[in-house]
Amino acid sequence: MFQKILIANRGEIACRVAATARRMAIRTVAVYSDADAHANHVRACDESVHLGGSAPKDSYLRWERILAAAKATGAQAVHPGYGFLSENEDFARACAEAGLVFIGPPPSAIQAMGLKAESKQLMEKAGVPLVPGYHGKDQDPALLAREAERIGYPVLIKASAGGGGKGMRVVEKHADFAAALASCQREAINSFGDDAVLVEKYVQRPRHIEIQVFGDTHGNYVYLFERDCSVQRRHQKVLEEAPAPGMTEAMRREMGEAAVAAARAVNYVGAGTVEFIVEQRNDGAMNFFFMEMNTRLQVEHPVTEAITGLDLVEWQLRVASGEPLPLKQEQLQINGHAIEARICAENPDNNFLPATGTLRVYRKPSATAFQRSRVRIDDGVREGDAISPFYDSMIAKLIVHGATREEALARLDAALAQTHIVGVATNVQFLRGVLRTDSFAHAKLDTALIERERAVLFDQEPLGLPLAAAAAVVRTLLAERAQAAPSEPFARRDGWRGFGQYQRRFDFEFRGEAQQALLTYRRDGSLWLQVGGVEGALAIGQFPAGEVELQFNGLRRTLNVYEEGATTHVFAPEGASRIVTLDPMAHAGDTHADAGRLTAPMPGKVVSFAVKAGDKVSRGQALAVMEAMKMEHTIAAPADGTVEELLYLPGDQVAEGAELLRIAA
Ligand code: ADP
Ligand code: ADP
Ligand code: MG
Repeated sequence: MFQKILIANRGEIACRVAATARRMAIRTVAVYSDADAHANHVRACDESVHLGGSAPKDSYLRWERILAAAKATGAQAVHPGYGFLSENEDFARACAEAGLVFIGPPPSAIQAMGLKAESKQLMEKAGVPLVPGYHGKDQDPALLAREAERIGYPVLIKASAGGGGKGMRVVEKHADFAAALASCQREAINSFGDDAVLVEKYVQRPRHIEIQVFGDTHGNYVYLFERDCSVQRRHQKVLEEAPAPGMTEAMRREMGEAAVAAARAVNYVGAGTVEFIVEQRNDGAMNFFFMEMNTRLQVEHPVTEAITGLDLVEWQLRVASGEPLPLKQEQLQINGHAIEARICAENPDNNFLPATGTLRVYRKPSATAFQRSRVRIDDGVREGDAISPFYDSMIAKLIVHGATREEALARLDAALAQTHIVGVATNVQFLRGVLRTDSFAHAKLDTALIERERAVLFDQEPLGLPLAAAAAVVRTLLAERAQAAPSEPFARRDGWRGFGQYQRRFDFEFRGEAQQALLTYRRDGSLWLQVGGVEGALAIGQFPAGEVELQFNGLRRTLNVYEEGATTHVFAPEGASRIVTLDPMAHAGDTHADAGRLTAPMPGKVVSFAVKAGDKVSRGQALAVMEAMKMEHTIAAPADGTVEELLYLPGDQVAEGAELLRIAA
């Protein structure tokens, strides 16, 4: 076994690898960028080496520096994590040339699986079922259109070099094919530097079911069962679970064996995932087709660990150091059910736009309360850390395990309720909403789940104005009491008046609307609150740090309340809300002045402009594409007009709020 390894990654996956290494008494070397100088993964390792600037190309993608760091620290092997260099065969080769073990498959296997079209040709030969499609070299548009016709609409055009849910276009009919092809090729060349595409049948109501495989250097292979990753937004996974609901023993074996055949065909070694798209037929039968193989450890590997009781990073280290696989196929077993939720910095109500900011509050489900209930949190951040625009938007993963799916689901909901994040927008409430949909609760899974459940998933308000306002009023009263010294009762600003009745008005902004609450200090010293058509006595109870106990309208509640400037964040078991306390003295600012400007919604890179100076554009037309935190965003025209000037070039980095182009009415 290795004595020391270098972890060529950051965030939760670097922390995850370090944890296993520590348990196995293997020393670890972290690498980091400027932005990550104080990051958790650096502290999780024994030593660390600075790589360079914050952008991945200046740090986590600079292999010569990473190899030099391994040499300088005496590391014997490199764990690439996922993303960054993990599926880069040149890096794997460079490791070997530098005398380092790359903890992953051989470069030839990475290469063979690297391009979707070529890997499908290989899989066809190995007898692995494929989605009906065209994956040939000839890229003549007329030929591709004929192939689409032969396959039958709807079809999916995919960039062969694509990944991360990018470079795909669904085409419904022949008339749309040429335009979709051109746009897919454009995105492919911009994002991956290669415009080759494949065309395949667009599977209806599909499920994404993938198989975890493992190979060793002695020619042994096993499959560690399946994960269902059908719940996706923008073709990216949101919730993952194992085992897949509705899976039969026969189908599990068939898929597992197909996945092993895929791995065997490329002499695979180490951890890999074979992704299948599964067609659900009306008669209940399921057909599976090979989609791609990810030649690395996957983000969602913990659900497999939960149901098998294994540590997949340990297996990776053992295999990389030449040991045989620890277990044989017949020794592997599924125990219970596990679900993972990806907590991301993003705004679900705004098309999942990634968000940046500082984790002013980051409270996790308490380990003690949940230890016996099997909740695992994989993260790489602490309270106070910034979610920067340089890396992806995943903050943490919550993984729960239960005897049954229902048990796991309830646990996940409870754990999400105890996840309090303030300072950056997240999808925590959205995830809870997904868990409660009829589709997810009853395991009616397919990749259109989020779309189908739109009506109950977006723009939801779980708490309501009265409770949110009561919490904000209580927060103000507590803050005022804390300011006044207890020995000076007359200095109390909370309306204590000795005798007589006193009223006070609070102005709020709640879900974009102005609202008011009226608080009455009654003669007997009690409080009476009127808000949103509800009124009742308001009482404030004991409050350990961060908690507020209030009794309003006959109901006694313990809430978690955090302030962020004028905003009060209220967390209750049924959900979380935000309410802004308005200063009645403040005048409405010119906050809408920016509405018509075409600015970058976040820091990122300009991918392309769809227009040029002088073009006439109409409202809603796509003008430019930006990329930030691994997502693409289209900037659309707010009104009809003429493009005056483009202010940046494709490839330029822009700051949040930077004006991208000018349009004259
Ligand atoms: P997994 O397949 O392991 O569940 P994803 O497919 O979401 O996870 O992403 C896997 C890795 O690929 C992540 O590390 C992510 O950072 C990286 N990734 C995702 N999108 C892109 C992209 N557009 N370009 C490069 N890397 C990406
Ligand atoms: P990536 O490399 O971006 O992960 P994949 O080929 O794995 O690309 O596809 C990503 C997602 O797109 C899948 O999980 C699935 O939701 C959807 N998808 C891919 N191929 C098809 C298909 N033929 N029919 C329907 N949906 C598909
Ligand atoms: Mg994929």
